[in-house]
Amino acid sequence: MRQVVVLGAGMAGMACARSLLQRGYRPLLVAPRGDVANHGETLSFHASSSLETLGWLGLLDEETALASQGRYSVWGGSALRRAEAASGWHIDRRRLELRMSAALEADGVERSVERARRLSRSPAQVAVELTDGSSIATEFVVDCSGRSAISSGAGAAPRRLHKMVAAFRIFRLDDDVEAAAATLVEAVATGWWYMALMPGRRIMVGLFSDSDLLPAGIRNDVTLWADMVSRTTAMSRRLSSLGLDPVMAADLHFAPASTVTASRLVEPRILRAGDAASALDPLGANGLATALWSGIQAAESVAGLLVRDDTAALRYERHFLEGIASHLATQTALYASEQRFPDMPFWQRRRGPML
Ligand SMILES: Cc1cc2nc3c(=O)[nH]c(=O)nc-3n(C[C@H](O)[C@H](O)[C@H](O)COP(=O)(O)OP(=O)(O)OC[C@H]3O[C@@H](n4cnc5c(N)ncnc54)[C@H](O)[C@@H]3O)c2cc1C
Repeated sequence: MRQVVVLGAGMAGMACARSLLQRGYRPLLVAPRGDVANHGETLSFHASSSLETLGWLGLLDEETALASQGRYSVWGGSALRRAEAASGWHIDRRRLELRMSAALEADGVERSVERARRLSRSPAQVAVELTDGSSIATEFVVDCSGRSAISSGAGAAPRRLHKMVAAFRIFRLDDDVEAAAATLVEAVATGWWYMALMPGRRIMVGLFSDSDLLPAGIRNDVTLWADMVSRTTAMSRRLSSLGLDPVMAADLHFAPASTVTASRLVEPRILRAGDAASALDPLGANGLATALWSGIQAAESVAGLLVRDDTAALRYERHFLEGIASHLATQTALYASEQRFPDMPFWQRRRGPML
């Protein structure tokens, strides 16, 4: 029987596998190889200590990450403001995850490229059933399978807030265009727009709204999206200063972005990390740092549980749940600070405590 199976090779799963290896364990990573979606993510500076612990800080180089020069916003008023908050890096997540994956391969981490279909738990073990019909018996599973969270069942039913979705495009910049490595957020009646530079002279531009508030037909008609961005103020000015026309060729992508919280992260023989534990509103731009941190914490928890010590596991669950509560309180306050659209459903739905 295996000691630990880690499900999913996003940032949480890979951090967990690497951290287990550093502690002398040989985890099996169950993770299909698929295309990683680039969402123009910002990696918070909070991630640097986790990357350092993992020995992966050096993976942030000019191909994978650009040091962020800050965050600008039009929020709570029509003026463009520069946020005080410390930033991090604009990353090419696909490339960074490929580097992490190659590092794990070089470390000799075993990987099954099948998907996990189901987990069956008994007091002594967990059986991980794979899509090819085979099954792996293990003492512990760390579920890092993201928002789809394979382990979330009746015992840990997730709670979903709203139906947020990102509708975004990634544009390529001309060689002669100078673009600052900063993010721009602009609140509008239907949600908020986000723009971030990415390594490789690309820029992500996306609308975050609730799926039922997007115009009908937007999935097949990019001019509806272009029309919405052209009605923004700072965002549309920035696009034209970069020589970008919103209707120019670039695929329109959609990604689920709702807040999904769990009340339990540590159950008998199954632990959760990253988005599988709780996926938070991207407005906070902290999901990746949390995924790395929680992957390491889950590895430490499993290492303790394997020698019948639950101290680290209990501490991990408490810290994570406290972090979610604090994040939701910050998110509530941030949404409440935008009062210009009192009658719009997107903003009405975000009034009051989110817990
Ligand atoms: C539009 C958008 C913008 C965002 N912007 C930011 C940002 O700016 N900054 C930030 O920090 N965060 C941001 N986030 C959040 C961030 O992307 C996530 O929090 C982060 O990717 C979570 O990492 P993870 O490893 O937990 O999950 P994931 O990255 O989702 O990885 C899960 C992995 O599990 C695998 N998997 C799924 N099911 C199975 C299965 N059954 N068996 C085996 N493997 C499976 C998947 O293939 C995947 O590789 C954003 C999210 C969205 C949607």
